[in-house]
Amino acid sequence: MTSLRGALSRALPALRASEDEADRVAYARDLWPREHLAVRAGHPAEHRPGAIAWPTSTSEVANLVRWGCAEGVPLIPFGAGSGVCAGIRPHGGAVVVDLKRMARVRRLDPEAPLVEVEAGHMGVPLERRLNRSGFTLGHFPSSILCSTVGGWIATRSAGQCSGMYGKIEDMTVALECVTGQGETVSFSRRTSGPDLVPLILGSEGTLAIVTSATFRLHPEPTTRAFGSWSFPTTERGWEAMRTIFQRGLRPAIARLYDPFDAMLARQRGGHSDLRETNGRERVPGRGGAALRAILGRPRALNDLLHSRAAARALGGALLVVVFEGSVESASQGLEQTRGIVEAMRGTWEGDAPARRWMERRYAVSYRQAPVFANGSFVDTFEVATRWSDLGRLYESVRRALGDHVFVMAHFSHAYPDGCCVYFSFAGSADAKEARDLGWDEACGRTYDRTWNAALAAAVEAGGTLAHHHGVGRSKAPRLPAELGVGIDVVRALMQAFDPKGILNPGNLVAGEATSTSTSTSTSTSTSTSTSTSTSIHVDRQSLLVSVEGGVDLASLERTLNDAGLTIAAVVPSPALSVAQWLAWGAPGSRDRWLDPVDHLVAGLDATLVDGRRISIRPAPRRAVGPDLVALLVGANGRFGLVERAWLRVHERGVPLPTSASFEHERDIALGPGEGALLDAIERCLAWRPPH
Ligand SMILES: Cc1cc2nc3c(=O)[nH]c(=O)nc-3n(C[C@H](O)[C@H](O)[C@H](O)COP(=O)(O)OP(=O)(O)OC[C@H]3O[C@@H](n4cnc5c(N)ncnc54)[C@H](O)[C@@H]3O)c2cc1C
Repeated sequence: MTSLRGALSRALPALRASEDEADRVAYARDLWPREHLAVRAGHPAEHRPGAIAWPTSTSEVANLVRWGCAEGVPLIPFGAGSGVCAGIRPHGGAVVVDLKRMARVRRLDPEAPLVEVEAGHMGVPLERRLNRSGFTLGHFPSSILCSTVGGWIATRSAGQCSGMYGKIEDMTVALECVTGQGETVSFSRRTSGPDLVPLILGSEGTLAIVTSATFRLHPEPTTRAFGSWSFPTTERGWEAMRTIFQRGLRPAIARLYDPFDAMLARQRGGHSDLRETNGRERVPGRGGAALRAILGRPRALNDLLHSRAAARALGGALLVVVFEGSVESASQGLEQTRGIVEAMRGTWEGDAPARRWMERRYAVSYRQAPVFANGSFVDTFEVATRWSDLGRLYESVRRALGDHVFVMAHFSHAYPDGCCVYFSFAGSADAKEARDLGWDEACGRTYDRTWNAALAAAVEAGGTLAHHHGVGRSKAPRLPAELGVGIDVVRALMQAFDPKGILNPGNLVAGEATSTSTSTSTSTSTSTSTSTSTSIHVDRQSLLVSVEGGVDLASLERTLNDAGLTIAAVVPSPALSVAQWLAWGAPGSRDRWLDPVDHLVAGLDATLVDGRRISIRPAPRRAVGPDLVALLVGANGRFGLVERAWLRVHERGVPLPTSASFEHERDIALGPGEGALLDAIERCLAWRPPH
């Protein structure tokens, strides 16, 4: 018995734990594709944990954390290990904490409706359980077969039906967690007053171990309506998608494929990603030599396949749309979408491509192995931005990737103010490097160059580095470039929640990377922005307004009205400044549960209480750690004040969508654990590491 397992067993004899070699190998990593290269090269699982523990209750988790805290043993929360960003990379002195034995449904309230479920519950059995009671969670990540509730929360996961139900953060009502000091704390979402739930969401196991989550539910749909359209260019397709969402339609699924991706989707009936191109019958040259040869010259291949002529020859971009709900709502949604898309000269392709996509929605993404076995690699990169910056982000990242690997893209999560671009890419070794270094090492070099270039391009183009896969250790070195001073705020949160730094150390925030001391606000698109005054800018394409904090709400609404827009809020006093209104939690704004796909605050610049400036770039949704907006909106100015905000605006006269009813207390009183953490955050924010 090694000292780690032995010490654990002595301290917590009832806790199931293991140090078997097979377990240590199995829990050594998640599904970060870079690790597959190491495995192929014959170096599997170099980062094995010292032990694995399987707690069955919140109190067992709390005891384990208190033990880890006292002994200085790092603990790595583990769901199902399907993360793709190296969120799990332990070492011999660490214990992996697998939550899967905590998989009970604690409460199903059909009146609200909501469910409280433990963090280790897997996706498919949860959805089946809910369906038996007539409900759906509405969360269908492609990894639903191999991911858990806790993993979804920790990474800010997105499901295939995000167009109607939103992402996991739009479903989460409350969380129960164990902090890094072993305190069990319940967190509730609230509209006025501080809301710490958005800080746990996306914290990737570094702030607390999530032990249960309460989710809002929807009635299980009784029917679906399907449609698909082709477009001569990808850009025309995303314009149609933008219009659909901005007119208030909420298709559960809306996916646009670029021409090459669309060609694959048509061939095999819908959903494609490069991982799927590797089904045995589809690998060119079967043995892999042809595939490696093609991927060895990615630039030529990309230039050829992404030309206008190729787009025409391939049949153009393809949009598939699925509405669900009642017979009436689904068919009405589809009819209205047809009207919009066909007026924008999308060509109706019938319902078959969308139906086939639905039938095969999970038949994808699990087919990487043949490509790796053939000596190449595949991976994906999901970024997001507002609509007015989408073209810039798409082109820059595609070009950056295209220098190194073969790339294609689809757009799978759309919102009224922006969209996620999901790049799939396949690459291989450079022939000269392979001669000098050996095949696997050369493949690894291509892989690293590809990611470095793509991440830099995404930051440069103003996008967010992750829409739903999270940051892990693979993107952590680039996170300061996106967050600026925000990275110090994330560190302060870590100190507040986990003062000893035992929870997944090294994840999300890389080593001692230093942040910039000034705001890293990205340049903003000007092409479609109307500058109505120096303090108010309307981004018409994204239906966002960028407004200075000092502007009063009456002036803001007047300016918007002149442009045919509105903030759609019944504000307590028109004389209130935007900054004050946001500090109070934006009272009178639309209830967030009415339209889970929408949100009020897309981004902001703020001054923290110690005078530092922070900039959170506008994006429809992001998965780059805790959402720092939560510290500035609804916290009564305790941590800082908003200088400028990007707020969602609505076209006057366009009906606002309303989802199924949700009856739940919006403003639950602050719990003692939450209060203590707010104090700790305040203290930790005031403390600054010496630079
Ligand atoms: C084939 C495939 C398809 C995918 N498709 C999607 C998709 O459609 N949408 C999507 O969003 N993602 C997708 N992913 C990524 C991945 O499935 C998600 O990130 C998922 O949310 C991870 O869940 P998990 O339970 O496997 O977490 P893990 O991989 O075990 O952990 C992920 C991170 O969360 C932390 N963590 C896990 N549980 C807890 C907990 N209880 N408390 C605190 N921290 C915790 C871990 O420490 C780690 O940092 C896909 C991955 C694969 C391999």
